Amino acid sequence: MFWQKEIETIGREPLEQLQLERLKQIVRRAYKNVPAYADKFIESGVKPKDITSLADLGKLPFTTREDLRENYPFGLLAMPKEQIVRLHTSSGTTGKPKAIFFTRKDVDQAAELIARCLVMTGTKKDDVLQNIMTYGLFTGALVMHYGAEKVGVLVIPAGPGNTERQISLMQDFKTTAIHVTPSYLLYLANVMQKKRINPTRDLSLKRAYLGAEPYSEETRKKIEESLGIDVYNSYGLTEMNGPGVAFECKEKKGMHLWEDNFLLEVIDPETGQNMPEGEVGELVLTTLCREAMPIIRYRTRDLTRIIPGACSCGRTHRRISRIIGRADDMFIVRGVNIFPQQIERVLMGVRGVAQNYQIILESYDQMTVMVEIMKDIFDGSLEHMLNLKSDIVNKLRAEILVTPKVELLEPGTLPVSEGKAKRVIDKRTL
Ligand code: ADP
Ligand code: ZN
Repeated sequence: MFWQKEIETIGREPLEQLQLERLKQIVRRAYKNVPAYADKFIESGVKPKDITSLADLGKLPFTTREDLRENYPFGLLAMPKEQIVRLHTSSGTTGKPKAIFFTRKDVDQAAELIARCLVMTGTKKDDVLQNIMTYGLFTGALVMHYGAEKVGVLVIPAGPGNTERQISLMQDFKTTAIHVTPSYLLYLANVMQKKRINPTRDLSLKRAYLGAEPYSEETRKKIEESLGIDVYNSYGLTEMNGPGVAFECKEKKGMHLWEDNFLLEVIDPETGQNMPEGEVGELVLTTLCREAMPIIRYRTRDLTRIIPGACSCGRTHRRISRIIGRADDMFIVRGVNIFPQQIERVLMGVRGVAQNYQIILESYDQMTVMVEIMKDIFDGSLEHMLNLKSDIVNKLRAEILVTPKVELLEPGTLPVSEGKAKRVIDKRTL
């Protein structure tokens, strides 16, 4: 199942040819129309005419989120304002928001990419998509909405929150697919369980598109099993349109990154040099089609790797792995670098652990992991609880090489976020 078969299965050589043409054009436009880019190019001693092959990409300076902020609000626009039809800002997980603009063509192109993603995972015209992302300034909901309408599915613009209503919408309109953050879906699954709703019997759900925050393979499995659905990973960021940058196909072995729209690099964040294929580094992306606001060599701060080899679905666009973490998420305890992802992976693999957890950093050598456990265990014997606790401590120690304190909580104790979950509370910097 393809939305645009020709471009999705294009040979590597014609793809690279297309990329080069688009790169040259985007570089020329940025140089000519965006003074901030012209300054950066001049500073690094590069002119648009120096870009004659894809290998020349490395000559171009990086764009960072500081560049976006410094040029806020209109500084990076490459088109007259009257051509702009849409504004989005990032959710600001890390610091101040960044403004991104779309022309009508940009809006349409972002929707095309979503249409590719949805069709790739089996979504058809007769599907019903409940869009549980936040509508508004963020890209997540609206970009998905336009893409789904393009495919012709019925979109329910539910937005997050009001869990009871989410469930009744699913029942009344026979929702077949949902677009949601992993943390909110885990919570939703928990509520369903409490209300004795059996998803396979009482709902028509077939698949969930999960993105906006990192989650582990263990979390995917947990959701797939508890809801009896297929979960597909969806990666995107506001700077690159929002969702639809990279998406899993039915193979679920990494996310195809639409390389006709985005140039893909994985670099060593320290040196800025390209990593050997297959090794983990920082994802760097260049928009190839954006009219309103081209962004060249954007440092996403997201850590991933390119999955070597071809995918059996027939798509030729390379795949990236699940996002291992954000460079900004890493924290240090007892001198050890730790990503919240590592902790999640361990927790979600332990039987008896429920959905929600939080990491509290109290000092530079002590951390506490607060984790909700299944209600029957919480109400059960003390011995069982103590065993579970020491099992979690041991497994965490083996993974992160630091012994954390672990507190077991009754389900529903920790706050639930409707947007991105806040997993780490760093009391050292409060
Ligand atoms: P921010 O969160 O920086 O305010 P966005 O709302 O644009 O900005 O979110 C984009 C970020 O969300 C990405 O850079 C990435 O860190 C994270 N993200 C998005 N999708 C995924 C995903 N499927 N897996 C892991 N992280 C993701
Ligand atoms: Zn594939």
